[in-house]
Amino acid sequence: MSIVPAAVHDAALANHGRIVDWDRVRADFPLLMREVHGRPLVYLDNANTGQKPLPVIASQDEFYRRQNANVSRAVHALGTEATEAYEAARGKLARFLNVRADELVLCSGTTFAINLVAYSWALPQLKAGDTILVSRMEHHANIVPWQLVAQRTGATIRVAEILPDGSLDLDALYKAMTPDVKLLAVTHVSNVLGTVNPVREICREARRRGIITVVDGSQAAPHLKLDVASIGCDFYAITGHKMCGPTGTGVLWARRELLQAMPPFLGGGEMIREVSFHGTVFNDPPHRFEAGTPNIAGFIGLGAAVDYLEGIGMAHIAAREAELLAHATEALRSIPGLRIFGTAPGKAAVISFLVEGAHAHDLATLLDLEGVAVRSGQHCAHPLLQYFGVAATLRASLAFYNTHDEIERFAAALEKTRRLLVA
Ligand code: PLP
Repeated sequence: MSIVPAAVHDAALANHGRIVDWDRVRADFPLLMREVHGRPLVYLDNANTGQKPLPVIASQDEFYRRQNANVSRAVHALGTEATEAYEAARGKLARFLNVRADELVLCSGTTFAINLVAYSWALPQLKAGDTILVSRMEHHANIVPWQLVAQRTGATIRVAEILPDGSLDLDALYKAMTPDVKLLAVTHVSNVLGTVNPVREICREARRRGIITVVDGSQAAPHLKLDVASIGCDFYAITGHKMCGPTGTGVLWARRELLQAMPPFLGGGEMIREVSFHGTVFNDPPHRFEAGTPNIAGFIGLGAAVDYLEGIGMAHIAAREAELLAHATEALRSIPGLRIFGTAPGKAAVISFLVEGAHAHDLATLLDLEGVAVRSGQHCAHPLLQYFGVAATLRASLAFYNTHDEIERFAAALEKTRRLLVA
Protein backbone atom coordinates (compact mmCIF):
# COMPACT_ATOMS: atom_id res chain seq x y z
CA MET A 1 0.00 0.00 0.00
CA SER A 2 1.38 3.38 -0.82
CA ILE A 3 0.46 6.07 1.62
CA VAL A 4 0.72 9.62 0.41
CA PRO A 5 0.82 12.12 3.23
CA ALA A 6 -1.44 14.95 2.19
CA ALA A 7 0.22 17.37 4.54
CA VAL A 8 3.64 16.81 3.13
CA HIS A 9 2.42 17.81 -0.32
CA ASP A 10 0.62 20.83 1.01
CA ALA A 11 3.42 21.70 3.27
CA ALA A 12 5.88 21.92 0.48
CA LEU A 13 3.54 24.47 -1.03
CA ALA A 14 2.82 26.15 2.29
CA ASN A 15 6.47 26.64 2.97
CA HIS A 16 6.66 28.62 -0.20
CA GLY A 17 4.18 31.11 1.14
CA ARG A 18 0.92 29.34 0.30
CA ILE A 19 -1.82 28.54 2.75
CA VAL A 20 -1.85 25.10 4.41
CA ASP A 21 -5.00 23.05 3.77
CA TRP A 22 -5.65 22.09 7.40
CA ASP A 23 -8.52 19.77 6.47
CA ARG A 24 -6.13 17.70 4.42
CA VAL A 25 -3.57 17.77 7.20
CA ARG A 26 -6.20 16.47 9.61
CA ALA A 27 -7.05 13.67 7.21
CA ASP A 28 -3.51 12.35 7.80
CA PHE A 29 -4.52 11.41 11.38
CA PRO A 30 -6.77 8.34 11.22
CA LEU A 31 -7.39 8.21 14.95
CA LEU A 32 -9.12 11.59 14.82
CA MET A 33 -11.84 10.07 12.64
CA ARG A 34 -13.04 7.67 15.34
CA GLU A 35 -15.99 7.99 17.65
CA VAL A 36 -16.00 7.77 21.44
CA HIS A 37 -19.20 6.87 23.30
CA GLY A 38 -21.06 7.24 20.02
CA ARG A 39 -19.83 10.83 19.48
CA PRO A 40 -17.17 12.12 17.12
CA LEU A 41 -13.91 12.36 19.07
CA VAL A 42 -12.65 15.83 20.03
CA TYR A 43 -9.08 15.15 21.12
CA LEU A 44 -7.81 17.99 23.32
CA ASP A 45 -5.15 16.13 25.32
CA ASN A 46 -2.23 16.87 23.05
CA ALA A 47 0.08 18.08 25.82
CA ASN A 48 -0.23 14.58 27.25
CA THR A 49 0.54 12.81 24.01
CA GLY A 50 0.12 13.75 20.37
CA GLN A 51 -1.63 11.74 17.64
CA LYS A 52 0.34 10.13 14.82
CA PRO A 53 0.07 10.93 11.11
CA LEU A 54 0.04 8.29 8.36
CA PRO A 55 3.74 8.56 7.45
CA VAL A 56 4.71 7.79 11.05
CA ILE A 57 2.30 4.86 11.26
CA ALA A 58 3.49 3.60 7.88
CA SER A 59 7.14 3.83 8.94
CA GLN A 60 6.50 1.35 11.77
CA ASP A 61 4.82 -1.11 9.45
CA GLU A 62 7.54 -0.71 6.83
CA PHE A 63 10.35 -1.23 9.34
CA TYR A 64 8.97 -4.47 10.74
CA ARG A 65 7.98 -5.80 7.33
CA ARG A 66 11.23 -5.05 5.53
CA GLN A 67 14.13 -3.91 7.68
CA ASN A 68 13.91 -5.30 11.17
CA ALA A 69 17.44 -5.97 12.44
CA ASN A 70 19.55 -4.73 15.29
CA VAL A 71 21.65 -1.60 14.82
CA SER A 72 25.42 -1.09 14.90
CA ARG A 73 26.20 -4.82 15.13
CA ALA A 74 25.38 -6.90 12.09
CA VAL A 75 27.21 -6.52 8.79
CA HIS A 76 24.40 -8.12 6.80
CA ALA A 77 22.14 -6.05 4.57
CA LEU A 78 19.27 -5.74 7.02
CA GLY A 79 21.59 -4.69 9.83
CA THR A 80 23.18 -2.07 7.61
CA GLU A 81 19.82 -0.74 6.45
CA ALA A 82 18.45 -0.58 9.99
CA THR A 83 21.58 1.20 11.22
CA GLU A 84 21.46 3.67 8.35
CA ALA A 85 17.79 4.41 8.94
CA TYR A 86 18.37 4.81 12.69
CA GLU A 87 21.32 7.15 12.20
CA ALA A 88 19.39 9.04 9.52
CA ALA A 89 16.75 9.72 12.18
CA ARG A 90 19.45 11.14 14.43
CA GLY A 91 20.49 13.40 11.57
CA LYS A 92 16.91 14.59 11.05
CA LEU A 93 16.56 15.36 14.75
CA ALA A 94 19.82 17.29 14.67
CA ARG A 95 18.55 19.39 11.76
CA PHE A 96 15.21 19.91 13.52
CA LEU A 97 16.94 21.19 16.66
CA ASN A 98 19.77 22.94 14.75
CA VAL A 99 22.55 21.10 16.56
CA ARG A 100 25.23 18.54 15.68
CA ALA A 101 24.10 14.93 15.35
CA ASP A 102 26.99 13.66 17.50
CA GLU A 103 25.71 15.78 20.37
CA LEU A 104 22.34 13.98 20.45
CA VAL A 105 21.78 11.09 22.81
CA LEU A 106 18.77 9.05 21.69
CA CYS A 107 16.82 7.80 24.69
CA SER A 108 13.31 6.91 25.80
CA GLY A 109 12.05 10.43 26.49
CA THR A 110 12.54 13.56 28.54
CA THR A 111 12.30 11.67 31.80
CA PHE A 112 15.24 9.48 30.81
CA ALA A 113 17.14 12.44 29.35
CA ILE A 114 16.95 14.51 32.55
CA ASN A 115 17.81 11.51 34.71
CA LEU A 116 20.86 10.96 32.52
CA VAL A 117 22.00 14.51 33.25
CA ALA A 118 21.24 14.03 36.93
CA TYR A 119 23.22 10.81 37.24
CA SER A 120 26.06 11.44 34.81
CA TRP A 121 26.65 15.16 35.22
CA ALA A 122 25.14 16.33 38.50
CA LEU A 123 25.96 13.43 40.86
CA PRO A 124 29.71 13.57 40.23
CA GLN A 125 29.82 17.38 40.16
CA LEU A 126 27.63 18.57 43.02
CA LYS A 127 28.40 18.59 46.73
CA ALA A 128 27.04 19.91 50.02
CA GLY A 129 26.74 23.69 49.87
CA ASP A 130 25.76 23.70 46.19
CA THR A 131 22.30 24.77 45.09
CA ILE A 132 20.06 23.49 42.30
CA LEU A 133 17.63 26.15 41.11
CA VAL A 134 14.33 24.74 39.82
CA SER A 135 11.39 26.74 38.55
CA ARG A 136 7.98 26.41 40.20
CA MET A 137 6.35 25.42 36.91
CA GLU A 138 8.45 22.29 36.23
CA HIS A 139 7.00 18.90 35.38
CA HIS A 140 7.96 16.26 37.96
CA ALA A 141 10.48 14.94 35.41
CA ASN A 142 12.48 18.14 35.99
CA ILE A 143 12.04 18.17 39.78
CA VAL A 144 12.33 14.66 41.18
CA PRO A 145 15.71 13.76 39.59
CA TRP A 146 17.15 16.91 41.22
CA GLN A 147 15.70 15.94 44.59
CA LEU A 148 17.39 12.55 44.24
CA VAL A 149 20.67 14.28 43.40
CA ALA A 150 20.24 16.64 46.35
CA GLN A 151 19.65 13.72 48.72
CA ARG A 152 22.81 11.98 47.56
CA THR A 153 25.14 14.97 47.33
CA GLY A 154 23.93 17.23 50.14
CA ALA A 155 23.08 19.98 47.64
CA THR A 156 19.90 21.98 48.25
CA ILE A 157 16.98 22.82 45.97
CA ARG A 158 15.90 26.45 45.57
CA VAL A 159 12.61 27.31 43.87
CA ALA A 160 12.36 30.05 41.24
CA GLU A 161 8.88 31.46 41.73
CA ILE A 162 6.27 32.51 39.21
CA LEU A 163 3.95 35.50 38.94
CA PRO A 164 0.16 35.21 39.17
CA ASP A 165 -0.23 35.20 35.35
CA GLY A 166 1.97 32.11 35.21
CA SER A 167 5.11 33.75 33.88
CA LEU A 168 8.44 33.24 35.59
CA ASP A 169 9.43 36.02 37.98
CA LEU A 170 12.62 36.88 36.12
CA ASP A 171 13.86 39.49 38.61
CA ALA A 172 13.52 36.96 41.41
CA LEU A 173 15.13 34.28 39.23
CA TYR A 174 18.22 36.38 38.54
CA LYS A 175 18.50 37.37 42.20
CA ALA A 176 18.30 33.69 43.11
CA MET A 177 21.31 32.95 40.87
CA THR A 178 23.80 33.32 43.73
CA PRO A 179 27.35 31.91 43.56
CA ASP A 180 26.32 28.63 45.24
CA VAL A 181 23.91 27.84 42.36
CA LYS A 182 25.51 25.24 40.10
CA LEU A 183 22.54 24.11 38.03
CA LEU A 184 19.29 25.62 36.77
CA ALA A 185 16.41 23.38 35.66
CA VAL A 186 13.78 25.23 33.67
CA THR A 187 11.11 24.34 31.18
CA HIS A 188 10.91 26.00 27.78
CA VAL A 189 7.09 25.75 27.70
CA SER A 190 4.88 24.89 30.70
CA ASN A 191 2.70 21.82 30.23
CA VAL A 192 0.06 23.31 32.56
CA LEU A 193 0.12 27.05 31.92
CA GLY A 194 1.38 27.21 28.36
CA THR A 195 3.91 29.85 29.45
CA VAL A 196 6.78 30.17 26.98
CA ASN A 197 9.83 31.05 29.03
CA PRO A 198 12.50 33.38 27.57
CA VAL A 199 15.06 30.60 27.75
CA ARG A 200 17.67 32.37 25.64
CA GLU A 201 17.79 35.31 28.05
CA ILE A 202 17.60 33.03 31.10
CA CYS A 203 20.47 30.85 29.86
CA ARG A 204 22.56 33.93 29.04
CA GLU A 205 22.18 35.15 32.64
CA ALA A 206 22.95 31.69 33.99
CA ARG A 207 26.00 31.30 31.78
CA ARG A 208 27.39 34.68 32.92
CA ARG A 209 27.31 33.25 36.45
CA GLY A 210 28.78 29.86 35.50
CA ILE A 211 25.51 27.98 36.11
CA ILE A 212 24.79 24.86 34.04
CA THR A 213 21.34 24.97 32.42
CA VAL A 214 18.98 22.06 31.78
CA VAL A 215 16.05 23.07 29.58
CA ASP A 216 13.00 20.81 29.31
CA GLY A 217 11.83 21.21 25.73
CA SER A 218 9.05 18.58 25.87
CA GLN A 219 6.26 21.05 25.23
CA ALA A 220 8.26 23.33 22.95
CA ALA A 221 9.37 20.86 20.27
CA PRO A 222 5.84 20.04 19.05
CA HIS A 223 4.83 23.67 18.67
CA LEU A 224 7.75 26.05 18.08
CA LYS A 225 10.52 26.44 15.54
CA LEU A 226 13.49 25.44 17.67
CA ASP A 227 17.06 26.60 17.42
CA VAL A 228 18.71 24.91 20.37
CA ALA A 229 22.17 26.11 19.39
CA SER A 230 21.05 29.71 19.79
CA ILE A 231 19.37 29.18 23.18
CA GLY A 232 22.78 28.89 24.81
CA CYS A 233 21.78 26.15 27.26
CA ASP A 234 23.97 23.21 28.28
CA PHE A 235 21.34 20.45 28.08
CA TYR A 236 18.05 20.37 26.16
CA ALA A 237 15.59 17.45 26.37
CA ILE A 238 12.65 16.52 24.16
CA THR A 239 10.22 13.62 24.03
CA GLY A 240 9.06 12.09 20.74
CA HIS A 241 5.48 11.09 21.51
CA LYS A 242 4.34 14.69 21.97
CA MET A 243 5.61 15.66 18.51
CA CYS A 244 3.74 13.10 16.40
CA GLY A 245 6.37 10.42 17.00
CA PRO A 246 6.15 7.01 18.69
CA THR A 247 6.17 6.60 22.46
CA GLY A 248 9.44 5.62 24.08
CA THR A 249 11.55 8.01 22.02
CA GLY A 250 13.35 11.12 23.13
CA VAL A 251 16.51 13.11 22.76
CA LEU A 252 19.03 14.71 25.04
CA TRP A 253 21.16 17.39 23.44
CA ALA A 254 24.26 18.36 25.39
CA ARG A 255 27.31 20.50 24.76
CA ARG A 256 29.99 18.29 23.31
CA GLU A 257 32.55 19.09 26.00
CA LEU A 258 30.08 18.16 28.74
CA LEU A 259 29.17 14.88 27.05
CA GLN A 260 32.86 14.06 26.61
CA ALA A 261 33.51 14.56 30.30
CA MET A 262 30.47 12.67 31.58
CA PRO A 263 30.75 9.07 32.80
CA PRO A 264 28.22 6.56 31.46
CA PHE A 265 24.83 6.25 33.10
CA LEU A 266 23.99 2.67 32.03
CA GLY A 267 26.49 -0.04 31.15
CA GLY A 268 26.07 -2.74 28.53
CA GLY A 269 26.43 -3.37 24.82
CA GLU A 270 26.87 -0.53 22.29
CA MET A 271 28.32 1.90 24.83
CA ILE A 272 31.77 0.28 24.90
CA ARG A 273 34.81 0.14 22.66
CA GLU A 274 36.60 -2.71 24.42
CA VAL A 275 35.73 -4.93 27.38
CA SER A 276 37.91 -7.30 29.36
CA PHE A 277 37.72 -8.50 32.93
CA HIS A 278 40.43 -5.94 33.73
CA GLY A 279 38.23 -3.09 32.66
CA THR A 280 36.23 -1.42 29.92
CA VAL A 281 37.03 1.33 27.45
CA PHE A 282 33.88 3.31 26.82
CA ASN A 283 32.66 4.45 23.45
CA ASP A 284 32.60 8.12 22.49
CA PRO A 285 29.45 10.16 23.02
CA PRO A 286 26.67 9.92 22.08
CA HIS A 287 26.97 6.10 21.90
CA ARG A 288 28.54 6.00 25.37
CA PHE A 289 25.09 6.88 26.70
CA GLU A 290 23.09 4.48 24.52
CA ALA A 291 23.61 1.11 26.17
CA GLY A 292 21.57 -1.82 24.87
CA THR A 293 19.25 -2.20 21.92
CA PRO A 294 17.45 1.08 21.32
CA ASN A 295 13.89 1.71 20.16
CA ILE A 296 14.95 1.40 16.52
CA ALA A 297 11.50 1.46 14.94
CA GLY A 298 10.52 4.26 17.29
CA PHE A 299 13.35 6.49 16.19
CA ILE A 300 12.73 5.79 12.53
CA GLY A 301 9.14 6.84 13.27
CA LEU A 302 10.36 9.96 15.05
CA GLY A 303 12.44 10.79 11.99
CA ALA A 304 9.26 10.46 9.92
CA ALA A 305 7.48 12.74 12.41
CA VAL A 306 10.20 15.37 12.03
CA ASP A 307 9.85 15.19 8.24
CA TYR A 308 6.11 15.55 8.65
CA LEU A 309 6.28 18.58 10.97
CA GLU A 310 8.92 20.26 8.84
CA GLY A 311 6.84 19.47 5.77
CA ILE A 312 4.05 21.59 7.19
CA GLY A 313 6.50 24.09 8.63
CA MET A 314 6.85 24.89 12.32
CA ALA A 315 6.00 28.53 11.69
CA HIS A 316 2.68 27.46 10.13
CA ILE A 317 2.04 25.13 13.05
CA ALA A 318 2.73 27.86 15.61
CA ALA A 319 0.46 30.32 13.78
CA ARG A 320 -2.33 27.77 13.45
CA GLU A 321 -2.18 26.89 17.14
CA ALA A 322 -2.16 30.57 18.16
CA GLU A 323 -5.33 31.06 16.14
CA LEU A 324 -6.98 27.99 17.75
CA LEU A 325 -5.89 29.16 21.20
CA ALA A 326 -7.45 32.61 20.67
CA HIS A 327 -10.70 30.98 19.57
CA ALA A 328 -10.79 28.53 22.49
CA THR A 329 -9.98 31.23 25.05
CA GLU A 330 -12.80 33.38 23.67
CA ALA A 331 -15.24 30.45 23.59
CA LEU A 332 -14.50 29.58 27.22
CA ARG A 333 -15.11 33.15 28.33
CA SER A 334 -18.84 32.57 27.93
CA ILE A 335 -18.85 29.73 30.51
CA PRO A 336 -20.03 31.10 33.88
CA GLY A 337 -17.57 30.66 36.76
CA LEU A 338 -14.68 29.53 34.55
CA ARG A 339 -11.18 30.47 35.71
CA ILE A 340 -8.10 30.06 33.51
CA PHE A 341 -4.69 29.34 35.06
CA GLY A 342 -1.87 30.79 32.99
CA THR A 343 -2.42 33.95 31.00
CA ALA A 344 1.14 34.97 30.21
CA PRO A 345 1.53 36.85 26.94
CA GLY A 346 2.55 34.68 23.99
CA LYS A 347 1.55 31.46 25.76
CA ALA A 348 1.30 28.14 23.92
CA ALA A 349 -2.04 26.47 23.12
CA VAL A 350 -2.68 24.96 26.57
CA ILE A 351 -5.64 26.05 28.68
CA SER A 352 -5.83 24.93 32.30
CA PHE A 353 -9.06 25.87 33.96
CA LEU A 354 -11.61 25.22 36.66
CA VAL A 355 -15.33 25.81 36.72
CA GLU A 356 -16.78 27.09 39.97
CA GLY A 357 -18.87 24.48 41.75
CA ALA A 358 -17.74 21.53 39.62
CA HIS A 359 -14.93 19.09 40.36
CA ALA A 360 -12.32 18.77 37.59
CA HIS A 361 -12.57 14.96 37.42
CA ASP A 362 -16.37 15.04 37.27
CA LEU A 363 -16.30 17.51 34.41
CA ALA A 364 -13.65 15.51 32.56
CA THR A 365 -15.67 12.31 32.96
CA LEU A 366 -18.84 13.93 31.63
CA LEU A 367 -16.92 15.59 28.81
CA ASP A 368 -15.59 12.17 27.84
CA LEU A 369 -19.17 10.95 27.47
CA GLU A 370 -19.63 13.83 25.01
CA GLY A 371 -16.61 12.59 23.05
CA VAL A 372 -14.30 15.33 24.36
CA ALA A 373 -10.91 14.16 25.70
CA VAL A 374 -9.32 16.61 28.14
CA ARG A 375 -7.01 15.88 31.03
CA SER A 376 -7.92 16.49 34.63
CA GLY A 377 -5.68 16.27 37.66
CA GLN A 378 -2.31 17.67 38.64
CA HIS A 379 -0.54 17.21 35.31
CA CYS A 380 2.65 15.91 36.99
CA ALA A 381 3.13 19.38 38.42
CA HIS A 382 2.08 19.23 42.09
CA PRO A 383 4.20 22.22 43.22
CA LEU A 384 2.64 24.40 40.54
CA LEU A 385 -0.90 23.52 41.59
CA GLN A 386 0.09 24.12 45.20
CA TYR A 387 1.08 27.67 44.20
CA PHE A 388 -2.43 28.26 42.83
CA GLY A 389 -3.97 26.57 45.89
CA VAL A 390 -5.97 24.04 43.88
CA ALA A 391 -6.00 20.25 44.00
CA ALA A 392 -6.61 19.71 40.27
CA THR A 393 -7.43 21.53 37.06
CA LEU A 394 -8.85 20.55 33.71
CA ARG A 395 -6.52 21.02 30.79
CA ALA A 396 -7.44 21.40 27.15
CA SER A 397 -4.34 21.31 24.98
CA LEU A 398 -4.56 21.99 21.27
CA ALA A 399 -2.61 20.80 18.27
CA PHE A 400 -2.48 22.06 14.71
CA TYR A 401 -4.83 19.26 13.58
CA ASN A 402 -7.65 20.44 15.85
CA THR A 403 -10.40 22.48 14.24
CA HIS A 404 -12.50 25.53 15.01
CA ASP A 405 -15.56 23.29 14.90
CA GLU A 406 -14.05 21.08 17.62
CA ILE A 407 -13.52 24.12 19.80
CA GLU A 408 -17.19 25.06 19.44
CA ARG A 409 -18.20 21.48 20.29
CA PHE A 410 -15.89 21.49 23.30
CA ALA A 411 -17.33 24.77 24.62
CA ALA A 412 -20.91 23.54 24.09
CA ALA A 413 -20.17 20.21 25.82
CA LEU A 414 -18.51 22.02 28.71
CA GLU A 415 -21.51 24.30 29.22
CA LYS A 416 -23.85 21.31 29.04
CA THR A 417 -21.87 19.33 31.62
CA ARG A 418 -21.43 22.41 33.83
CA ARG A 419 -25.20 22.79 33.99
CA LEU A 420 -25.56 19.16 35.00
CA LEU A 421 -23.06 19.56 37.84
CA VAL A 422 -23.81 23.08 39.06
CA ALA A 423 -27.41 23.04 40.11
N1 PLP B 1 8.37 17.59 30.82
C1 PLP B 1 7.20 18.11 30.41
C2 PLP B 1 7.04 19.59 30.38
C3 PLP B 1 6.15 17.27 30.03
O1 PLP B 1 4.98 17.80 29.66
C4 PLP B 1 6.35 15.87 30.07
C5 PLP B 1 5.26 14.94 29.72
O2 PLP B 1 4.12 15.10 30.11
C6 PLP B 1 7.59 15.38 30.48
C7 PLP B 1 8.58 16.27 30.85
C8 PLP B 1 7.89 13.90 30.57
O3 PLP B 1 7.96 13.35 29.31
P1 PLP B 1 8.12 11.77 29.14
O4 PLP B 1 7.12 11.14 30.06
O5 PLP B 1 7.82 11.52 27.71
O6 PLP B 1 9.49 11.43 29.50
